[in-house]
Amino acid sequence: MYGASAGSTANSQAASRMFVYEVAGLRQNEQTDQQSYPVRQSGSVFITVPYRRMNEEMRRITRLGGKILSIKPLNTNGEVTGYVPAQTSPEPSKPMTQTEHKPVQIPVNIYKPKNPYIGKCIENTELVREGGVGTVRHLTFDISGGDLRYLEGQSIGIIPPGTDEKGKPHKLRLYSIASTRHGDHVDDKTVSLCVRQLEYQHPETGETVYGVCSTHLCNLEVGADVAITGPVGKEMLLPDDENATIIMLATGTGIAPFRAFLWRMFKENNPEYKFKGLAWLIFGIPYSANILYQQELEQLAAEFPENFRLTYAISREQQNAEGGKMYVQSRVSEYADEIFEMLRRPNTHLYMCGLKGMEPPISQTFTDEAGKRDMNWDEFRKQLKKEERWHVEVY
Ligand code: FAD
Repeated sequence: MYGASAGSTANSQAASRMFVYEVAGLRQNEQTDQQSYPVRQSGSVFITVPYRRMNEEMRRITRLGGKILSIKPLNTNGEVTGYVPAQTSPEPSKPMTQTEHKPVQIPVNIYKPKNPYIGKCIENTELVREGGVGTVRHLTFDISGGDLRYLEGQSIGIIPPGTDEKGKPHKLRLYSIASTRHGDHVDDKTVSLCVRQLEYQHPETGETVYGVCSTHLCNLEVGADVAITGPVGKEMLLPDDENATIIMLATGTGIAPFRAFLWRMFKENNPEYKFKGLAWLIFGIPYSANILYQQELEQLAAEFPENFRLTYAISREQQNAEGGKMYVQSRVSEYADEIFEMLRRPNTHLYMCGLKGMEPPISQTFTDEAGKRDMNWDEFRKQLKKEERWHVEVY
């Protein structure tokens, strides 16, 4: 379908790039002797490495006791041209990952709509169990052939195939990334999404309408191509502070960025980020069968009771204090005092992701809480925003 697209050309160009490692301290042994590296007077050697083998070569150098002093790209004439950006500049002591270095660069728009990255679907599984409503799929795409890098909290664009009613190619739709920067297989080769199939009754005809892109994704076969743009978004990034309090308010697929956060905090063993703070997820869904990633979330809550608090708001099964449906905003109002006091501490961040409707009632709750303390919520929220502690992504 996307066979001869410019994306594939870009990918193969990226893949064929060459880099020069300047390495010191390599133990001379069979392996190094076999390869005639140019040796400097200082004793360091230069090794030319294709892009695809950078990780592997780095691990080999480390095994041989070497230290990488610099990495520079080669241009098509075989000349060294400059420095590799931080994301691809590996440390010799560990496998190269995308953003292990500080300050972390935020990757944006590596792939644009005119030249999308063509990934392959390698997983597409249903997340809603029997008794739940709708279809929500966990999708994983292989991105190993290109340059797509991303951080937790960013989104990617998906361009559905075909044309719209005006005969123009479909526009991209954004989806929050549900995996950490290292991907579900922790090998920096995949990106995952959590996608709900849009389905509604046409207000005039009563006909059932299915969303274009969400249906394309939910029905995507394993092995099929998918056109990806981005990444985009700086609003929902996770702070570096390992001791932060991270309050996450999610409805439905709004769980996606928080899955990425929680996996980074608790499932991956990242040398540069060992979370020691408090993560509190308040997760709104209609039925218990709609609790996305339930097993993993509950396992984390059981394993890390000091650091991870999990609260559900199951609107069709639980009631709020007034006997109404239990929404995320109902839980926020239940814990309003506690959450507000947390927000007054300088290392607390609040994130909101999912349905648009959740923001106004939550703001109302905080307006009331601020009032009880002779504070002005609008001013306080502005301050939180300025301090990059108030993060909202609703759609
Ligand atoms: P379309 O074919 O584009 O149809 C959408 C249109 O249908 C609407 O514009 C509206 O005109 C109409 N419509 C929708 N509902 C109704 C209704 N009830 N009555 C009448 N008309 C209606 N989605 C996810 O599933 N997971 C995510 O992680 C995710 N992350 C997002 C992150 C961001 C930053 C943004 C902006 C959006 C995100 N979305 C996410 C939503 C996603 O981008 C798409 O909007 C969604 O999948 C629908 O796209 P579609 O092509 O299927 O629908």
